[in-house]
Amino acid sequence: MTAVPIVLAERADLAFADAPGSGPLVDRFGRVHRDLRISLTDRCSLRCTYCMPEQGNEWLARQSILGTVEIERVARIAASLGISTFRLTGGEPLLRRDLEEVIGRLSALETPDGPVEIAMTTNAIGLDERLPRLIDAGLGRLNISVDTIRADRFSDLTRRDRLGDVLAGIRAASESALTPLKLNAVAMRGVNDDELADLVQFAIDHGAQMRFIEQMPLDAGHTWDRARMVTRDEILEALAERWELTAVPGRGGAPAESWRLDGSAHTVGVIASVTAPFCGACDRVRLTADGQMRNCLFSNSEFDLVPILRGGGSDADIEDLLRRCIWKKLPGHAINDPSFLQPARGMNAIGG
Ligand code: SAM
Ligand code: SF4
Repeated sequence: MTAVPIVLAERADLAFADAPGSGPLVDRFGRVHRDLRISLTDRCSLRCTYCMPEQGNEWLARQSILGTVEIERVARIAASLGISTFRLTGGEPLLRRDLEEVIGRLSALETPDGPVEIAMTTNAIGLDERLPRLIDAGLGRLNISVDTIRADRFSDLTRRDRLGDVLAGIRAASESALTPLKLNAVAMRGVNDDELADLVQFAIDHGAQMRFIEQMPLDAGHTWDRARMVTRDEILEALAERWELTAVPGRGGAPAESWRLDGSAHTVGVIASVTAPFCGACDRVRLTADGQMRNCLFSNSEFDLVPILRGGGSDADIEDLLRRCIWKKLPGHAINDPSFLQPARGMNAIGG
């Protein structure tokens, strides 16, 4: 499979112009942004090898982490500019004691076109106990990460013996009103690539959609190796041994491509960020836990909201920063370019 070409053309007349001062949050390539990923912490209850080092991680200073009111302020302005989905992530968002309050405040926001949706990506540890309160607060959708359902592998991969807690969280989510439930796994050679079909069956048994993610160069240890990553085509090949796969059309701007299994209602998704990038339809922007706006997972520059938030800046200053951040977005992530530079932050500190 060859990579999907990025069909964006930078408008020469706009490239060096200032970001527009009104209208939706648009970049120089015409991509309108509707999705803000908010990282609530860089800390985590697991230590997945592809995301964090086992030891020696440099944590963000506690006082630098944005508080509930600061997050709400940025989100309110983003919503007024058309951001309609807020995805809470991290690190592990369930480690935030004020998570219910964050969700409650964000879910009350409105875009010019209507209400916002609150989604969360989580490892599900502690979710079973907390889920009813999160739903009451306004949580609308859940993605749960589970790379293996084998206890010994789980301990090796996450360096923590917590598979039981994750499974309890998945069970609670599958019995809740939050649909569609999505389960995410990073496919890894020699780690879980013999378990992909079992994961799909596990998801089906829990009324969820399994989605496989190609491993990206975002680990804090900088150990990613292209030659070892499991590709979209290899994932599909492995699944085709158990099911007949039919591509589901109409992906829109979604990161995952989907396939129907044996013509049934069940589907599987693949997020092929490396071998089939979907940057051309990207509508996502990110806020790190320490108040940096990032226009791409792989960006090497950030836009610092802290002096505005903590230095008496106005809402107009925040809007201006959001507009400039998105305006400066590059056409694609360039992982496949020889000059690609992995961002200094690991995935846990960016917010996946
Ligand atoms: N702790 C939560 C979780 O694991 O779902 C939320 C944060 S985590 C950084 C968000 C997602 O990023 C997870 O699905 C995780 O598997 C994925 N991820 C982390 N590092 C990755 C990498 N190097 N390549 C691809 N996906 C990665
Ligand atoms: Fe934690 Fe999620 Fe990173 Fe795993 S992928 S270490 S659960 S932040």
